[in-house]
Amino acid sequence: MTGLHQLAPEFSRSGARYRAYTSKHLDELTARAGLDASERLAVKAVATVLPFRTNEYVVERLIDWNAAPDDPIYRLIFPQADMLPGRDVGHIAGLLARDAPAAEVRQAAHVVRTRLNPHPAGQLAFNIPDLADEPLPGVQHKYPETVLVFPRQGQTCHAYCTYCFRWAQFVDEPDLKMATSDMARITAYLRQHPEVTSVLITGGDPMIMSTPVLRRYVEPLLDPQLGNIESIRIGTKSLGYWPQRFVTDHDADDALRLFGEVVAADKCLALMAHFSHPRELEPALVAQAVRRIRSTGAVIRTQAPLIRSINDDSAIWAGMWRTQMRMGMVPYYMFVERDTGPQGYFAVPLARGYQIFRDAYASVSGLCRTVRGPSMSATPGKVCVDGVVEVAGEKVFALHMIQARNPDLVGKPFFARFDPTAIWLSDLEPAFAPRFPFDSVPDQLPGLWGPEVLASLT
Ligand code: SF4
Repeated sequence: MTGLHQLAPEFSRSGARYRAYTSKHLDELTARAGLDASERLAVKAVATVLPFRTNEYVVERLIDWNAAPDDPIYRLIFPQADMLPGRDVGHIAGLLARDAPAAEVRQAAHVVRTRLNPHPAGQLAFNIPDLADEPLPGVQHKYPETVLVFPRQGQTCHAYCTYCFRWAQFVDEPDLKMATSDMARITAYLRQHPEVTSVLITGGDPMIMSTPVLRRYVEPLLDPQLGNIESIRIGTKSLGYWPQRFVTDHDADDALRLFGEVVAADKCLALMAHFSHPRELEPALVAQAVRRIRSTGAVIRTQAPLIRSINDDSAIWAGMWRTQMRMGMVPYYMFVERDTGPQGYFAVPLARGYQIFRDAYASVSGLCRTVRGPSMSATPGKVCVDGVVEVAGEKVFALHMIQARNPDLVGKPFFARFDPTAIWLSDLEPAFAPRFPFDSVPDQLPGLWGPEVLASLT
């Protein structure tokens, strides 16, 4: 194992303690952004439907309050009054203004949430596997080689992104949550599925868990009987929202030791780090955290969705990729904002998203061109927009599947009619074919789901 004694002694042990701000603090914080009373009430109404949480580091170090409420980091964190339909916001704001009973406000928020497609891409319908004919909740098995685990204690984050596609994990709706703590059943499942080579521990943010709790989920995967598991991935935004987790938190060293144990067990430990904007990379603490993580032998791959008014600019992406590469991270994905929550508010049309990706990609060196995108994580798989081209006199999108429920489709190009307003796969029509490739082959799926689910995919 790469020992902690090899880490540069550049950090101070007197790091800040994590302090969360929740909706209780929303009024005070939005007043700081210059919002008047009615604007603040509308923001509070949105925050009854969608989650809000931030912390002192984000508020004091990342947000430019002189530019708020237009500042991109402010917009990344704080609900916006127009993120939801005006009628819904007005109705809930009215309830709050007259101090309506909490149950009435909760019910109104619930009604709005049900219209927001809380679990996109068939996550609950198609992805939950069975073990001994019983479902394995808190686990998703969408692609043959990858299993996602949602640790029960990891279903929150150091701060919440306004555009989060996992928002349903954080609201007061127990029926919408995915979570597990049953690693015995998960490892039994993995033993029965030798095709699984990678486990993604995700959330929320698994790095919100203390190291002993995180260890409960990671250590069982190091069992020699699970030789099929080649990589353990941890999806996290903690490098952006709380880099102290790897530097000054009381169990930072223990977390790094755990990463080293994974590497020593001959598995790849990959942090899938979510950065939305270059400003998140600026604090020196982030560079320290990255150096410490890398010194364990872990790798860091970076990803984020393309979001209107936060990072919809090719210079922002090119700058992020260059800085990440210089710091030793590997640019990995530009995602398309998913079809859930306030998608309509944050979405960038696919045609423009492709142009932003291409312009950024064209301006960086080959070391940054590890990045893929713009990619839609949709029901059939990850669909990448490769370009807008003219074929046989017709303007079309060229697409391919980076990942697919049906592995036969991975990497094969296909086309969709050009539509400058399309924001998601469901907006597209096939070109030069009666249907998309993934529409025609559900019966070839690799046995992860029952026949009734396969039938429903046709
Ligand atoms: S860090 Fe990830 S899971 Fe957490 S709020 Fe942001 S997008 Fe959602």
